[in-house]
Parts: sequence; structure tokens; C-alpha cells
Amino acid sequence: MILGKVWGFIPISMELKSKLEEIFPRQPDARKKAFKKLGLKTVEDLLYYFPSRYGDTTELKNIKDLQVGDKPIIYAKIKSIKSGKGYVKKITMTEAVLEDATGTIQAVWFRQPYIAKMLNEGSFGKFQGTVSERNGKLYIANPEHRHINDIPLGTGDSLFNKENTDHFIYPVYPESNGISSKWIYHTVNKIFSSGLLDEIEDPIPQEILKKYKLPSIKTSLIWIHTPKKESDALSARKRFAFEEVFFIQLLRQKQKTEYQNNPSFKIQKTKEEVEKFINRFPFKLTPAQEKSINQILKDFQSNHAMSRLLEGDVGSGKTAVAATTVYAVATTKPNGENVGNLQTAYMAPTEILAKQLFESFIQYFSHLPINVGLITSNGCRKFPSKTNPDSWTDISRSQLLKWVGNGEIPILIGTHSLIQKTVKFKNLAYVIIDEQHRFGTNQRRKMANKEQNDETTEKNRVPHLLSMSATPIPRTLALTIYGDLDLTLLDQMPTGRKPIITEIVTPDKREKTYDFIKKELESGRQLYIICPRIDEPDPDKAKALRVKSVKAEAKRLKEEIFPNYEIDILHSKLKPTEKDDVMQDFLENKTNILVATSVVEVGVNVPNATMIIIEGAERFGLAQLHQLRGRIIRSNHQAYCFVFSDTKTKQTLERLKALKNAKNGFELAEFDLNLRGSGELSGKKQWGISDIGMEAIRNIKMVEAARTEAQEIIKKDFKLKNYPVIKNKLGNVEVHFE
Ligand code: ADP
Ligand code: MG
Repeated sequence: MILGKVWGFIPISMELKSKLEEIFPRQPDARKKAFKKLGLKTVEDLLYYFPSRYGDTTELKNIKDLQVGDKPIIYAKIKSIKSGKGYVKKITMTEAVLEDATGTIQAVWFRQPYIAKMLNEGSFGKFQGTVSERNGKLYIANPEHRHINDIPLGTGDSLFNKENTDHFIYPVYPESNGISSKWIYHTVNKIFSSGLLDEIEDPIPQEILKKYKLPSIKTSLIWIHTPKKESDALSARKRFAFEEVFFIQLLRQKQKTEYQNNPSFKIQKTKEEVEKFINRFPFKLTPAQEKSINQILKDFQSNHAMSRLLEGDVGSGKTAVAATTVYAVATTKPNGENVGNLQTAYMAPTEILAKQLFESFIQYFSHLPINVGLITSNGCRKFPSKTNPDSWTDISRSQLLKWVGNGEIPILIGTHSLIQKTVKFKNLAYVIIDEQHRFGTNQRRKMANKEQNDETTEKNRVPHLLSMSATPIPRTLALTIYGDLDLTLLDQMPTGRKPIITEIVTPDKREKTYDFIKKELESGRQLYIICPRIDEPDPDKAKALRVKSVKAEAKRLKEEIFPNYEIDILHSKLKPTEKDDVMQDFLENKTNILVATSVVEVGVNVPNATMIIIEGAERFGLAQLHQLRGRIIRSNHQAYCFVFSDTKTKQTLERLKALKNAKNGFELAEFDLNLRGSGELSGKKQWGISDIGMEAIRNIKMVEAARTEAQEIIKKDFKLKNYPVIKNKLGNVEVHFE
């Protein structure tokens, strides 16, 4: 703790955990709001709030110093602004005069009529653009601009205290209304001069810093916030990137060891038994499916809990792997008993998907004396029905819970309703989480740690855990965020599937594409159309947003494009029973075209639907687009994905092109990762990893090093007795990942 340092006239004491509002009282409201928005509570948070990039003072210019060909940043007041048509080419032109303390220059924007509405006379802005010359006069053409409230003090000569050097790099932080880079920079400097840095214990052990030549925490903090040269900033970033991944790994390795050390249920099935089940599938398993099944069955044979991630592209056949392994569990008797079955809970993210799985499982298990249950927030079902053994029946929730509790229902499929405390199993031996990325870490953990009802069950016994995901993510990322799971890849598609044809359709090709689709519809195929929104009640806004909505688009298509076909809509605002009916009709080919929001993203299986149109594709992430497209690789008919987009931005076009060309989801994921790298840093976390952490994810060597070191530490000192700093930090780190 630092006592008695004098800032201004207020003696203060400061620690890493000190609240910012106590250390820096009397902040304007906007800043307090910004603290909240950016998640900055303590001094430590601020020290760990890193620049997203560094500017170079050589880019920052006074207007009087500008020369043709420069691409400077200038801070200026808008002295005047007007727009009109150019004399020669009749294009819209907006002209402004920019002024700083040293002079004025003209700025010209072509074909951007809205600029004049965004910039007001007398307001301030930050401008960057190339300086050109016309008739002997300098001007800046199409400068990028950002509104600022005031011209920064001493712009051009002492913005960030240049310390008498001509060349100086300054930090640029992800800003928010109320917090500027300049404020952060000066505040961090104050914290530095308080002497607090000397008190910080390095969370990375010395020997690891040495081994990988990483700078100490103190040096790194100084270098990342106030670098003298670029290489210092880079070293510091590298260290923090390593630190972030190292701590994620420590946490995950700890969780993994914790889970896998638990006693579990031993399940031993002979190959012949399992094959009998497999032989009933209407297809031959792919080698990848066989390999996955064998791996899981092998895990089952040990006394310890499995925790495995099965990752496979959409349509790679994860359900068959799940069903076969469920079979092994459901036909095993509880320990030491000669009746009964071990139980499985199979959780899916949506009701539609849960119901579809329930139907599939009925087909797979109907020849066996095994009951299958379904639980969602809208009701429960059981197969077989007492009165009609070939079909399921609705049952009350209390009845279902009773049968699950006494073990009479060995297989329970459901949505997140499964997590609820009231759902108690007798002998829960296996938990499957489908489309696992749709659940939070917490939900997954709750499911795996479900209480067992049976007093005879050995204490601390936990179920085997299988997470399944179709979101292909790069290996480095999988090793990091799912470091607590063993990884199995389902990297083969069932044979006979034709690769999907993906076309990017620009507005001029729309009509032709509809014509093509009509032919396919005529031969009996079905079509999904995905729109970004459900509804846009305000017609003016709809026009402004130019985003297709499900309701309006369905109406338009029926009236103008596909009058001869049945069109239905599906979105999250429909009641569950309505959703069911819509899906059922589509499945039975009573409707030909389904206009939907991205609710169909997950798992829904309609083999005859071989076409998908995605409207407003630029609004979806690559992974999501890939998942949407996955809805149609379900049969042997040629499938088509039409990505409708009127985008002109280079980055979006590149992304869509990647979607067209990627051979599989994994390739796409690597592309996405690299693109993110070059793209704008957002200051937002993805997958619970900060921008700086993502820098590590792009570096397989760094991820492997962090993983190895973390494994080593957890292996030799699981309780972290010799690593108090790590232990302390891990105690707090959890919140960052949820
Ligand atoms: P996902 O991995 O996306 O969950 P599913 O398990 O839903 O995929 O399988 C997609 C479709 O492929 C289903 O209709 C399923 O019956 C079928 N399928 C699964 N495995 C095979 C296989 N080995 N050969 C042919 N079809 C298969
Ligand atoms: Mg699936």
C-alpha cells in the first residue's frame, strides 16, 4: 500500500484493488458512465486497460505544416461547410474549411451528401486524409473524420508530452464517450508516479519469464502504456498476451484435473453388442464416426469421468455418435444391481432441436425396452405411450420428474430446463450437451455437476461429459477456451454428399437466381430464406435500414415471386406450439418455402430442403453463416446457398468470398481468425478473450508454451500452494470468462 503520496492537495493511499471513484473523485458523470460501460472499477482494471494501437506523432500535423502527399491527422474546427453539385460532373460535393491554431485548409468530400448533415459549423473534429493540390491551393480529399468535443491541448507540439524527442509514439485506447485516450494516458501516468508499480507481484513465475524472455510486470505496464519505442510496446503486448492465455490455461487445466479425478461410472460393452445397435442405422458410419465412438467407449471403461469435446462440421453426423454411446450407457445396469439402467441427460439449446432429437431417439431405441423422455419449459413427453406403444405421449412434469428420479426413464432429452434443481436423476452417468457453444460455461458445469438422487451412489461420482459443437474454431482457440476438454474431431462427411454450391448474389442477379430456384422448387425441393429481422413496424425505418424482415419478405415473395408455392414463417416470437406446427409442415413438405430468422441456425434437419437464401448476409458472422448453410447439407441432392448482399466494402466481400471458397468449417475458422487480426480492434471480447489475448491465439507456439507451463504447474502443485499470486489471481479470474 502506498500511503501519504500527495496528488494535488489530497493525500491518498492507493492499491491495485482501490476503486477508481475513490482515487479519482469528482469525475464528470459521462466519465463515471464510461467507467461502467468499459468495466473499469479498480486501479488494476485501468492498468490492464490496454491501448488498441499506437499513433505516431509524425502523423499528427499542424495545418500550416501540411504538404502535398501527406496523410496527416489534424485536429480542427469546422469554420464553414456547404454542399452542392460539382460543376463538371454533377456529383454531390461537400466542402468545408478546417481551422486550427496555425491556419486553415479546405476539405472536400465527393458523393457523400450526408457528410454535411453530420458536421456542423463551429464543431470540432479529428480528420485524416491525403493532402492534394488544385489550382495551387491545398485541400484534403475525402478525409475520415470523428467528432470531438474540443481540440486537444497543445495539439501538434505537446499532445502527450513529447519529452523533447521529435519522434514519439502515443497510445490510442478504445475510447468511449467521457473517456479519451488522453485522459487514460495521463491518469495511468499518475498511477505510475505514485510508486504503486513497485508493489505489484508478478503473476507469471520468474522462471517462466526468463525461459520465454518476457519482460516483468512492472516493465510491461510501463512499456504498454508509455512506450519509448515500438519494440517495447510489442514486447509488453507479447507478455500480456501470454499472461492471458497462461491464466485461461491454468484455470482450464485445473478444472479438467478436478473433473477427471472424480470417480465415475464404469461402462463396458462388447463390440458385438454395440455393433448390433449400429447396424440398425440406415447408413454406414464414416471412419471418423467409428473412431469417435471407440474413443468415447474407451473413456467409459475407466473409473474416471470423461470430459470430451466432439467437434464436427454441420452434417458430419454427431447424433449417431451420441446415440450409440447413449446406447452403451442405457443398457448398463447401475453398480452392483441386477435391474435398472444408467441414465443419460441430453441437452439441446432450442426446443425445436430437442424435439427433433427426441424423435430421432425414438427411432433408434424403439426396439429396446428403454423409455425416452423429453422436457422443455412448455411440457414433457414420454416414449412409449402406455396406450400406444408405437408413439409418445404428453405427460405431466411431476410424473416425468418422478420417473426420472426413480430411474424409469433412462434417457432424458431436453432444453436448458434440464438444468433445474427439481430435475433429479437416480443414476446420471452421461451428460451430452449439443451445440455446446450456445450454453454458458456455467450452464454446462451445472449440468455436469448435477446432484444424484440415489443415496447408494458413491459420493462425488460425476457423469461422463460429452460436449458437441459444430462451430469450427481454430485449433489454438479450441486448445485455449476448451482446454478443460479432450478433443475429438469429426473431420469427415458422410459419403455421397455433394459439396454445397455457394453463390454471392448481387442485386442485379436477384431475378435470375429466383428463376433458378423456381426450377428446383418445381422438381420438389424446398427452400429456406433467412432474414436478419422479424418485423419492422415503422416503414420509414425499414427503408432506412434496408434490412429484410421475415414478415414483409414473406408477403413480398408470395405476391411477387413465388405465388404458386406455400410459404410460411418462423421466428422466435412465435409460440412453441406454432413453431412446432411450422416445422412439422415444412418437414412434411406441406410448405415449400420457409422464411425465417436465424432460429433455424441450430441443428434442424429437413433433408429435402436443399436451398437457402441468406438476406443481408453482411449482418451475420462467418461462423453463423456457415451454420446456416449447414441446414442444407443433409441429403444427396445438390444443395445451393445463395448469399444475397449489396455490400461494397472490401472486408465484407472478402468474408463472403471465404464462405464461398472454404472447403470446410475449420478452414473458414482459420480465415476468420486472421481477418480479425487485420481488422479493427474492437475493445470487445470474443470468446471471453481480449484483443491482446487474441494476439496469442494467432500464435500456435505461444499457446502451446502457455499450455505446457500451465499443465506443469497444475500437475506438480494442484492446490497452488507454492504459487500464491497465481492462486489469488485465479480466484478472481473466473468472472472474466462467463
Ligand atoms: P450434425 O453433426 O450436424 O449433428 P446429424 O447428426 O444431424 O449432423 O446428421 C445429419 C444427417 O446425416 C442426418 O440425417 C443423419 O441421419 C445423417 N447421417 C449421419 N451419419 C451418416 C452417415 N455415416 N452416412 C450417411 N448419412 C449419415
Ligand atoms: Mg446436431
